Amino acid sequence: MDISALQQIVKERYFKTDSERGIYHTALWFHEEVGELSSAIASGDKENAKEEFADVLMWLLTLANIMEVDMEAAVAEYLANSRKNPAK
Ligand SMILES: [Mg+2]
Repeated sequence: MDISALQQIVKERYFKTDSERGIYHTALWFHEEVGELSSAIASGDKENAKEEFADVLMWLLTLANIMEVDMEAAVAEYLANSRKNPAK
């Protein structure tokens, strides 16, 4: 699955609810998931960390949807940026 396809699935499932909640409160949910991921990593619970990695990714993509950011393009730009790519 590519990033665009995943972002589209997230949009179809969550955009209405998340956009109605608004970017600020949706960002708070994202931060909560980042905290849960950090706790899972700190505790060494790999199974829980796996679930939390997915939670963080979904909330990241929903934030991108609300802000109309194409993450596939954003990642491509990031990788093409020589400042962020020491191999270049
Ligand atoms: Mg979670």
